[in-house]
Amino acid sequence: MNQSPDDRGGMLRYDQLATRVYSERRMPEGTRDLILALGWVTLRDPRRHDPTVTTWQRTREVLNADNKRMWQLVAADAPRYEPDWEAGPHGCRAPMVRVDRLCGKSTSLGFAEFDPATGWLTHWAFCSRPRCRKYAKPILERAEGSKSRAPEAIPNTGGLLPLFFSWNWEAKYHKAAELIHTIHGWEPPSYGLSADEWPEAPGQEKPKAFPKLRLIASDGEVVARQGPTLVGADRV
Ligand SMILES: [Zn+2]
Repeated sequence: MNQSPDDRGGMLRYDQLATRVYSERRMPEGTRDLILALGWVTLRDPRRHDPTVTTWQRTREVLNADNKRMWQLVAADAPRYEPDWEAGPHGCRAPMVRVDRLCGKSTSLGFAEFDPATGWLTHWAFCSRPRCRKYAKPILERAEGSKSRAPEAIPNTGGLLPLFFSWNWEAKYHKAAELIHTIHGWEPPSYGLSADEWPEAPGQEKPKAFPKLRLIASDGEVVARQGPTLVGADRV
């Protein structure tokens, strides 16, 4: 069977996409499935030039997903900041004297502090022992008003779909937020939708930019039937 230049280009680009996807360590599996399916449908699928089927429909078909599942996948990738509620030790966080551990007693004072650089939240909690309360006092003073002084929180989750594909993601995330309650009230972060646009935050690896695959949308549906292009593919 003869391969057209379009086939060869699509194979190379799909290969490049899959390599990059599998090297992205923080990618949830649902997002990974969706990115690979979108890549397949626009680059490799035998029906990719069929004008009667949209990319969204075809992606749903290859994933064997219903519409609700598709919107769940989009919602899971909504770029946002999610505090790590499980982070840090449970119990009083005052250090013990001469022992290399925290007090750990059950707490009676708890409050949040917002980081002045990232806007991220730290939960503090202390027990009622006078020594621990003395330790807590300057932290509590520092924390008071920290929310109003802190910048908008840098997103720490989602934002991977726009890393790979140019599309009307803001409209898609808004629609997902209407349908999927876990991200109800979602607003686009001012830092950008794509995770590679966010400022670096301590302890978090920033994803590298990737040449974005352009999906062409009309009336909110994708009609990438003209042959997609990897934006800036030559630079990789
Ligand atoms: Zn304590």
